[in-house]
Amino acid sequence: MRRKLVVGNWKMHGSRVSNAELLSGLLAARPYVADVAVCAPFPYLSDCAVTLAGSDVRWGAQDVSAHAQGAYTGEVSSEMLAELGCRYAIVGHSERRAYHAEDDALVAAKAQAALARGVTPIVCVGETLEQRDAGQTEEVVKRQLSVVIHRLAHCAGEIVVAYEPVWAIGTGRTATPEQAQVVHAVLRAQLHAATGHADRMRLLYGGSVKADNARALFSQPDIDGGLIGGASLKAADFIAICRAAE
Ligand code: PEP
Repeated sequence: MRRKLVVGNWKMHGSRVSNAELLSGLLAARPYVADVAVCAPFPYLSDCAVTLAGSDVRWGAQDVSAHAQGAYTGEVSSEMLAELGCRYAIVGHSERRAYHAEDDALVAAKAQAALARGVTPIVCVGETLEQRDAGQTEEVVKRQLSVVIHRLAHCAGEIVVAYEPVWAIGTGRTATPEQAQVVHAVLRAQLHAATGHADRMRLLYGGSVKADNARALFSQPDIDGGLIGGASLKAADFIAICRAAE
């Protein structure tokens, strides 16, 4: 039985004051049956480390460098994240693929760099609306994931995968539970062929998850929780989604 995981992706939102309010709301609503984590902007990670210390609410980054160290201005290494106690790093989010030209090879290198320091990468894959309409969804997500699987080799079973259809992110348009399940089943089969134990891996759905659609999504057999953007910014909304994963 896989334990559900719900991860908030704050994107470039928040302030020290609003984050403190959000985190204290999340802490006050414990216990959760699901695993719960928040991925905050880099400047706020040490606040998360302090505020969430000793609790079972985890925290993560929204990106990580593919490099271990060196002259890479503006980048943050997995070693730096690990030093703070960081549990997760999102890699390959569609916003980074679109606005920062991150390709599958770079995403795979980032996933490897994260794992090398014990930070679990949450590897995002997903098709655009054009690709879905052209019937290419399966081909696109399998290609994105295969580059990561190939690079990680025997460590591929240690990642979390987030299926995030690009057309559903921040649009209010959610994949139906059935649409999402079809893709999750494809991804799990691909992971199983590579690792032999994908039945133990967690596959999250992301894309306009809200309190009122979360339960139906999370009750699909291959959906093990969610990566939540907009609805993770208000404690009450995010807590309701975490409860829907129980
Ligand atoms: C995301 O940023 O990963 C995401 C899924 O955003 P939203 O929930 O706002 O669609």
